[in-house]
Amino acid sequence: MSDWQKTNWRSKPRVQMPDYTDQAALQAVEAQLAKYPPLVFAGESRRLKAQLGAAGRGEAFLLQGGDCAESFEQFSADGIRDTFKVMLQMAMVLTYGAKVPVVKVGRMAGQFAKPRSAPTETVDGVELPSYRGDIINELAFTPEARIPDPRKMLQAYTQAAATLNLIRAFSTGGYADVHQVHAWTLGFTEGDKAEAYRDMANRITDTLDFMKAAGVTADNAHTLQTVEFYTSHEGLLLEYEEALTRLDSTSGKWLAGSGHMIWIGDRTRQPDGAHVEFCSGVLNPIGLKCGPTTTADDLKVLMQKLNPENEEGKLTLIARFGAGKVADHLPRLIQAVKDEGANVTWVCDPMHGNTIKSASGYKTRPFDSVLREVRDFFGVHQAEGTIPGGVHFEMTGQDVTECTGGVREVTDEDLSDRYHTACDPRLNADQSLELAFLVAEELSR
Ligand code: PEP
Ligand code: MN
Repeated sequence: MSDWQKTNWRSKPRVQMPDYTDQAALQAVEAQLAKYPPLVFAGESRRLKAQLGAAGRGEAFLLQGGDCAESFEQFSADGIRDTFKVMLQMAMVLTYGAKVPVVKVGRMAGQFAKPRSAPTETVDGVELPSYRGDIINELAFTPEARIPDPRKMLQAYTQAAATLNLIRAFSTGGYADVHQVHAWTLGFTEGDKAEAYRDMANRITDTLDFMKAAGVTADNAHTLQTVEFYTSHEGLLLEYEEALTRLDSTSGKWLAGSGHMIWIGDRTRQPDGAHVEFCSGVLNPIGLKCGPTTTADDLKVLMQKLNPENEEGKLTLIARFGAGKVADHLPRLIQAVKDEGANVTWVCDPMHGNTIKSASGYKTRPFDSVLREVRDFFGVHQAEGTIPGGVHFEMTGQDVTECTGGVREVTDEDLSDRYHTACDPRLNADQSLELAFLVAEELSR
């Protein structure tokens, strides 16, 4: 829209955003951020958009993954490396299964702000404002920690910049070599428990051997040694988003410079709300979470607002209904897309509809529910004659115990061992790779 301004969201109803008490500090932070370089560049976002368009046509497949919430305290080079590494392994297995390029997008370098199901949290009769992510307030259960502090945006920016710097180095510096990535995967399938995946891993080995024999090597095939890796996060904290929004001199359009792709959450997708208003004017690819309460009418309005030119790759619909509920909701939304003749890329988030409280009191997600939702999603698309364009996972390269199940059979009792997430439970490295093998099997059917 030509009359779009990056500040227009300010006159719209906003939800899930903090009310900063120190307005002077907020304005100082915004002014500071506005002077900093954008983290991503318009050409990169346009390239991702084209690749997401391909995923919408079935000519590519999206793998989007990373933490529920990035944390200041747990930030480390090793943590970034490990998540990046497992995503490359997953991407390779998925490429083999889908026989199309896998578009890799991290929930990284900006995934700091969290929508919450309740504005306050009560522990032992004490009620405090909810934790809203490290870019807003702190997890500790004290009144001071829960006060929103705008200065945290500067720390988030710095951490995002450092994360992206490392990712860019890993992507082109030799770390992403396919033979190396596959060697790690073979390590996983060597254990007794992962035996079921050895056959596919061996077939990938054969393929690599064949390519080598045929003379396709890293020396003459650049893509065997480097990857393209993009960043994404929920565009929730609009003061941060606005301050990093820049005019792209090539196209004359606005770029949200905070990440290649931003998405709108299930709690902030009001068609007349602030978040939709902001996202409607930037050139980045936009994700839209679709849950059980998304109506066909709202979806039609949202598609019109978020992708008025009906560009391919512009709008990714991220379905998150819960295992067993996909068939109740996805067909009516697919119908709405068909009615409008809209170009969208359908992606499955099998995490957010499958969160339960375990007997031991931890928030968890059973591996089997996650897998079942992905299978349901593929099944509905098959029946409707539409394209399942990708998957969206909350995952980490660390060996955490947050989701139950998987080859190493994490149980309710195990959850307390290494439960490190500041927000939702993530798949650990083995569970993530196992899921990639299972999804690859579905894709190769
Ligand atoms: C999320 O992706 O972390 C999230 C909160 O998802 P949703 O908006 O779908 O609940
Ligand atoms: Mn989450």
